Amino acid sequence: MIRKLLIANRGEIACRVIRTARAMGIGTVAVYSDADAGALHVEMADEAVHVGPPAPSESYLLGDRMIAAARATGAEAIHPGYGFLSENPDFVEAVAAAGLTFVGPPAAAIRAMGLKDAAKRRMAEAGVPVVPGYHGTDQSEATLAEAAARIGYPVLVKAVAGGGGKGMRRVETAAEFTDALASARAEAQGAFGNPDVLIEKYIEHPRHIEIQVFGDGHGNVVHLHERECSLQRRHQKVIEEAPAPGMTEEIRQAMGAAAVRAAQAIGYVGAGTVEFIVDGSDGLRPDGFWFMEMNTRLQVEHPVTEAVTGLDLVEWQLRIASGEPLPLAQDEIPLLGHAFEARLYAEDVAAGFLPATGRLAHLRFSNMARSDSGVREGDEISPWYDPMIAKVITHGPSRPVALARLSRALAETEIAGTVTNIGFLEALSRHPGFAAGAVDTGLIARDLATLTAEASPPLAVILRAALAAAGPDAPPGAFAGFTLWAPLERVVRLERGDKSWDVRLASLGPDRVRAELDGAEALCRRRKDGWLIGEARAPGPARRLDGSVVVFAGQPWAFDLPDPLARAGSSGTSGNIVDAPMPGLLRDVLVEPGDTVAKGERLAILEAMKMEHALVATRAGVIEAVLVAAGAQVAAHDPLIRLAAETDHA
Ligand code: ADP
Ligand code: ADP
Ligand code: MG
Repeated sequence: MIRKLLIANRGEIACRVIRTARAMGIGTVAVYSDADAGALHVEMADEAVHVGPPAPSESYLLGDRMIAAARATGAEAIHPGYGFLSENPDFVEAVAAAGLTFVGPPAAAIRAMGLKDAAKRRMAEAGVPVVPGYHGTDQSEATLAEAAARIGYPVLVKAVAGGGGKGMRRVETAAEFTDALASARAEAQGAFGNPDVLIEKYIEHPRHIEIQVFGDGHGNVVHLHERECSLQRRHQKVIEEAPAPGMTEEIRQAMGAAAVRAAQAIGYVGAGTVEFIVDGSDGLRPDGFWFMEMNTRLQVEHPVTEAVTGLDLVEWQLRIASGEPLPLAQDEIPLLGHAFEARLYAEDVAAGFLPATGRLAHLRFSNMARSDSGVREGDEISPWYDPMIAKVITHGPSRPVALARLSRALAETEIAGTVTNIGFLEALSRHPGFAAGAVDTGLIARDLATLTAEASPPLAVILRAALAAAGPDAPPGAFAGFTLWAPLERVVRLERGDKSWDVRLASLGPDRVRAELDGAEALCRRRKDGWLIGEARAPGPARRLDGSVVVFAGQPWAFDLPDPLARAGSSGTSGNIVDAPMPGLLRDVLVEPGDTVAKGERLAILEAMKMEHALVATRAGVIEAVLVAAGAQVAAHDPLIRLAAETDHA
């Protein structure tokens, strides 16, 4: 068995791997960039090695640094996690050349699946069903257009080097083909440095169902059943589950056998996932699924499989990398109950799901779920990396129970300090079609407006927020102090986006407050277990943060508390400049000189680390100047936009 393992990754997956390694008595070495010196994965590991500046291209993507760090600490093996170096065959070869063990497949297997066109040709030869399409090397527009016509519209133009849903265009008619091809190629060139595409039939009512496979170094391959990943937004997974709704033993065996055949055809070793596109228009059929791609690594959503098999996939990876045979034979692999995983991100749903940053001023997970996370309360979601906060995983004896637990776990998750997609996930977990198992990859897009609708906070939430804002949210009795340091009656102003509420609070004695909003009145009484508002229990716990207050009631309801003193302190030029938080491409400037902007309004879009970041106004004001034009490459801290200095309004 491996005695010491270096984890060449960060965030939740580094923590996930460390947890199992520790449980197996394996020593752990973390690596970290400047941005991660205080990160959870560094704290969890036995040792940690600094590998460079925050930019992944100068740290986590440098294979030589990883190998040097392993050598320096005496680690014999390297686990790549997902992303970064996990699917880089040159790295795998360099690891072997250094006399170290790579926890993953051989370089040749990664290469065989690296480009989608070659992988599909190879799979077709191995007898794995492949979506009808053109996977050839002739990339002339005439050939591609002809292939599209032959295949029959609608078709999908796909970057052969694609990943993460990038470089893909659905084309409805021949008339749209030229434009779609050009834009797919441009995106592929930008994201992967390779403009080549393939053409395939667009499967209507598509479902994404994938099979977890494992191979060992002794020629054995098994599958660990399927995962349904059809709940996607822009081809990216949002909620995954196992088993797939409507799956039968017959279809599972057919898909499992095809996945095992795919892995065997390329001499696969370790954990991998064979992704299939499934025609869901008329239930699942044994001949209604086609190979899409193989991910030659541990997948983000692997915990779903762990929940329904009771197995630890990282343990399997480490045992296989140590030369052991597969721990179980195909017919010994359990399938118990049902599981879901939701991906919780720091992102601004209202602004089109733009990645967000911020300090996690408050973070508490529900005990209803397994929560795999790489951050703690107080940590910063930096703009440098994937903004995933956690994966929330629930299990139950049946699909309805597991799904109810997911809703409950999401509703109970308390996060403050950054915007997140938790309200969206919670709404999705209560979607009637999803609950009925009627999933396809278009579900989210069709119902996006409903799923992302900004609800207004209920009255009880507003009153609870005002109570938290008015006094120290301290144990019973302490509210008596309210009368000592504050006027007997005061008005608390709460703001949320462009809405605001003025709640009048009157102290009636220890732990008794009369709250009034727009003529509605409630007597609020503090008890040991929280506030009573009228006769009802307050809707949830609340946290007072710097300049804001958050009530956790089904979702985090955040309110800004405008500080009447703040205006005086915010003059001076630095408060007037919006600068670039990191190096990147200024994709778009959304304002012009003379525009009046509200606090929080989007001013510009910066593209960095293959993600888009919205730069927002930190205060209301008037745009004085736009200092950099859209399309420019900018350095960190470059001034981009200047707001007019605040004058003292009388
Ligand atoms: P998966 O197929 O494992 O569910 P996705 O396809 O949803 O993963 O993710 C898109 C890609 O982004 C994946 O190929 C993964 O390698 C990469 N990725 C996801 N999270 C991270 C991360 N925290 N760091 C680096 N890369 C990541
Ligand atoms: P990536 O490498 O970006 O993950 P995939 O080939 O795995 O690319 O496809 C990503 C997603 O695009 C799938 O999960 C599915 O939602 C959709 N998709 C891919 N191929 C097809 C197809 N032939 N018909 C319909 N949808 C497809
Ligand atoms: Mg994929």
